[in-house]
Amino acid sequence: MFDCIVVGAGIAGATVARKLAEEKGRKVLVIERRSHIGGNCYDKPDDYGILIHEYGPHIFHTGDEGVRAFLSRFTEWYDFGHEVVAKVGDQLIPVPFNLNTLHMVYDRDKAERLEKKLIETYGEGSRVPIMQLRENEDADVREIAEYVYKNVFLYYTMKQWGQKPEEISPEVTGRVPVVISYDNRYFKDTYQSVPLHGFTPMFEQMLEHENIEVWLNTDCTDVLSFVDGKIYFQGEEFTGDLVYTGAIDELFDCRFGRLPYRSLDFQFEHLDVDSFQDHSVVNYTVSEDFTRITEFKFLTGQKDAKGTTIVREYPFAYTGAEGEIPYYAILEEKNEKLYDRYRALTENYPRFHLLGRLAEYKYYNIDAMCRKAMDLADALD
Ligand code: FAD
Ligand code: UDP
Repeated sequence: MFDCIVVGAGIAGATVARKLAEEKGRKVLVIERRSHIGGNCYDKPDDYGILIHEYGPHIFHTGDEGVRAFLSRFTEWYDFGHEVVAKVGDQLIPVPFNLNTLHMVYDRDKAERLEKKLIETYGEGSRVPIMQLRENEDADVREIAEYVYKNVFLYYTMKQWGQKPEEISPEVTGRVPVVISYDNRYFKDTYQSVPLHGFTPMFEQMLEHENIEVWLNTDCTDVLSFVDGKIYFQGEEFTGDLVYTGAIDELFDCRFGRLPYRSLDFQFEHLDVDSFQDHSVVNYTVSEDFTRITEFKFLTGQKDAKGTTIVREYPFAYTGAEGEIPYYAILEEKNEKLYDRYRALTENYPRFHLLGRLAEYKYYNIDAMCRKAMDLADALD
């Protein structure tokens, strides 16, 4: 009946399913254990009619024309330059730290001198990871680096990861570099948008195809098993391609121990005011137990709702307990080694493909995930 099974209906699963169904004529079954499609991009109106992102704020940003064109077949976009501020004392300062921020935190003469120094050292428009900036031996540059390290990175990173910036992968802090320009936008990509009517309708369109069937509320471990190099689907041998986008350790009963992840507790609150913070995202970089507050109206451009809904994000270490969700892989050598042990188990199954932020134990954005899924679909016959 099916010649391809995709586990997970997030961006990885939905992209690969659509392309295989449409371009390769495959009969695709998508198995999703949640009660909805969209993975962590899922959004829905809350009880007050405000469109919220159930698993944290998601902005689609990309410079990949192919990815943008592919997703544009399924949605129109609400385009905007996403900006974030950090609450430091009484000030709201632009993040990433940039030349506007520099002029907010230093007096005019000093800011001008430091600006000149930064441009001379790194070049106008450059993007310098904080950990690299801290290595500069010039006293002025170091002063800026220490300001940014202390006021933007240290406490936020301690909350998010339970570790200091120097203890985590530089890839992670490098996502938010110091920017030597007056650009306040959080991302540098050409396209920065959310789907005009929400992510979930975009996913509905992606999965709406005669060759795709979606089973919700179905854990793949209830219908799939792996024995001696053979895959069984509902008790019968399955010889088609299987694309798996879930956590790899769970598939093998965590037999080598759990892969570590960071999780988040999202605390939503509806307020009977027009606006809570006037910004889509405020990062709390020197205070509070939560990392950031998102006010959805400013993220989605929604104008027709009364009141406002916000969400606070409280990070914690994932334990695997019922109801917890593994959000962030922890990019450390020992975890990657453990991941490799699990991956080796899949090598006995030639048509089994690991794809996705969980399945690959990587820190992918939506566009990178979509690109990888497109490439995988292209590579399969
Ligand atoms: P997921 O979206 O996690 O989908 C995997 C799916 O597989 C899930 O629906 C899950 O239920 C299902 N599944 C797992 N195991 C099983 C099983 N055993 N049986 C059946 N189904 C199963 N990226 C951006 O580009 N921009 C952003 O602004 C952004 N913000 C983010 C904010 C937060 C708080 C987080 C955590 C991530 C953010 N990301 C953002 C990253 C983005 O969420 C991911 O790149 C993307 O969701 C990864 O898609 P995926 O398909 O790999 O995984
Ligand atoms: N970060 C920080 N302060 C900030 C923003 C980011 O310390 O104000 C660090 C933190 O370690 C975070 C990482 O940079 O985990 C990457 O930030 P990003 O906004 O990309 O994280 P995401 O949105 O993926 O959670």
